[in-house]
Order: sequence, then structure tokens, then C-alpha cells
Amino acid sequence: MCEENHTSRPPFKRRHLVFVTAVIVTMALSLQGCNLFTEDDEEPVVRETFLLGTLVRITVHEWEQGTDVEGALDETLVEMEKLGARVSVYEDESDVNRVNESPQTPIEVSEDTLHLLQTALQMNRETEGAFDPTIGPLVSLWGFYTGDYRVPDSEEIQHALQYVDASSVQVDPEARTVRIKEGMQLDLEALAKGLAAQRAEAALTERGVTSALISAGHSSVHAVGDGPGGRPWKIGLIHPRNLSEIYGKLQIRASEAVSTSGDYQRYFEENDTRYSHIIDPQTGRPGRTIKTITVLTDDSIIADALSTALFLFEPQEALQWADERGGVDVVIMTADGAVLYSEAIEDRLQLEDD
Ligand code: AMP
Ligand code: MG
Repeated sequence: MCEENHTSRPPFKRRHLVFVTAVIVTMALSLQGCNLFTEDDEEPVVRETFLLGTLVRITVHEWEQGTDVEGALDETLVEMEKLGARVSVYEDESDVNRVNESPQTPIEVSEDTLHLLQTALQMNRETEGAFDPTIGPLVSLWGFYTGDYRVPDSEEIQHALQYVDASSVQVDPEARTVRIKEGMQLDLEALAKGLAAQRAEAALTERGVTSALISAGHSSVHAVGDGPGGRPWKIGLIHPRNLSEIYGKLQIRASEAVSTSGDYQRYFEENDTRYSHIIDPQTGRPGRTIKTITVLTDDSIIADALSTALFLFEPQEALQWADERGGVDVVIMTADGAVLYSEAIEDRLQLEDD
């Protein structure tokens, strides 16, 4: 069996914006030689839903005998939806919005939000500030929350930058409260998809699923078990300028996570310049050095956070950063179209023009 799933979403609100669900191509290999229960002649069970501002897809290939796959998928999606409702800036009643609406006040949040925020602050330190969970005022200024895109002037950017400061977020882990300063806005979108994927893995595994692929958001992919028949999964890397094509395939194994951030996922154009949704907390402007970056690691939250943060690095520096950190591999397409990748994944990466 060989499957290719392409998912693309229609334009988001505005004509000049192409907000595309990154195409996740899974090429599941044949279901032979496997000691688990599978339905050999049947298609995998696929379920999709819209949450965390994007499309989530779960493809289940193998499960233990007696598993209620449909039931497992239903329950998993309910858990993911509940998580989204707690952490997403796009959900009115979320923890993040409650904190944003009451600056200067310690607001009690869920374990999930606390965990994401603490990881976000750790990522902020590790990436020299490139990852910033207080990026909200800038995301808002450029219009990415509402779709009212515009290029702000320098004065507006300087003004918003005053309120982007991860070091001033006050977290009390014991009381589970978060307090921000007046004018600040938290945004955990850049790593929440990773937690959703992790949550889905746990929910599916608990219910007897042994081989599945979760794509949470337009870019996060998490493997539950190996691919069908114990083979590696093959993930397609979308070409950032031709979204119906892939520029490479990457093999991943059980529990590995892949996250892609790119300037084709959410952007607008003005005067022939593309402005994407990942904003540099140093300059207050969208990153411009990388078209797309894919991060492979064993933790979905870290993969998600790092693809966003490293998108803002110079390509060579992103590669070096990953190399020095260890346990993190990257594939990058630079602004001028060159493809760079970590040496450690050379034998797992197949580039289309190889
Ligand atoms: P992702 O799609 O995971 O790369 O996350 C992009 C989203 O994260 C954006 O739509 C913003 O909501 C938020 N974001 C933008 N810039 C940053 C940044 N520098 N650090 C953290 N989050 C960001
Ligand atoms: Mg991310």
C-alpha cells in the first residue's frame, strides 16, 4: 500500500493571503510482516478536525486486536479540542486570553498552559530571544490575528516592541498563576500544536492504537509507533513556492516529531514583498532569511517551538545552533532557494532533485 495525502486550505479571509495547510505527505509502506492486528486490504482510518486555528489530521494504520479505532479517534479529538480551548489565543475563554485581558493581575491557569509557558520561556532563553511568547502586540500590529494585514511604520513597531519582553512575565508555579504587564499579550500558538500532538499520541496509545501519524496544525507531525509493517514513516517537505509539490522526503521513527515553519503558511504581500506570520522580537518585523525550516527531534513541543524560532536565524546559524544543541536536526530552504540540512540526517533525507 502506498498513500499520499495532500491537504490544502482555501485562502484565509483575504485574497492576497494564502494560508495553506502545509501538505503533509505520508507514504505508508505495505502492511506486511507485522505481528499486530491490521486490516490488510483496508485504507487507514483518517479523521480531521479544525482546531488551534488550523486543520488537525490523524491517520491510524495499526492497532491492537479489539481496539475501537473510531471511538479512540473521537475521544482523542475531544481531548485535543479541550486543550485548544485552554491554550489558544483564538479561543475567547482560553487561559491565554484571560491573562491578556487582566494585566497586572496573577491569573490562575491550567497545567497545560503553565507547562507551555514555562517551555516557551526556556525556549526564549535557549534561542537568544528569537522565540518569544510575548510576541502578541507585534502579531496584532501586523494584522495576523484578524486578517487586517498592513505594514506598520517604524514608530508603531518601536511602540509595540516595548511590550515584547519575555523576561517580565511572572509565573508562580505553585499557585499556577501568570501575570503580565499592562500592554503585553501572550501568544503560545508557536508551540501549542506540539502539545496537542503529544496529547493525541498518549490518548491513542492508551486506547490500543500502535501505528498512527498525527499532523497537528499545518506543520507539526508526530509519529505514534513506526509506520505500517514496522517501517519508518516518510514525511513530505512542501515546496514553499509550489505547494502541490514536495522538495524532499524525510524518514521518521516511532515517537519522533517533525515541525515545519515557513513563509508560505500565513502571509500577505505588499509592493512585491512577502510578510510572514513569524516576527522577529529584535526588529519587530517578519523573518526574511529562510523560506521554510523543518525541525526533527523527539519532543513535539520543542520541535514546534524550534521551527518557529530558527526560522528567524541566518540559515547557517540555524544549522550550527541545531548541531551544537544536539538531538535536533534541521532541513532548511534559504531565501535564495538553497537547501541546507544537518549531517546526521543525510541518510534519512531524500531531496527531490537528488
Ligand atoms: P508556527 O506556525 O508554529 O511557526 O507559529 C507561528 C505563530 O507563532 C504565529 O502565527 C504567531 O502567533 C506566533 N509567533 C510569531 N512570531 C513568534 C516568535 N518570534 N516567537 C513565538 N511565537 C511567535
Ligand atoms: Mg512552531
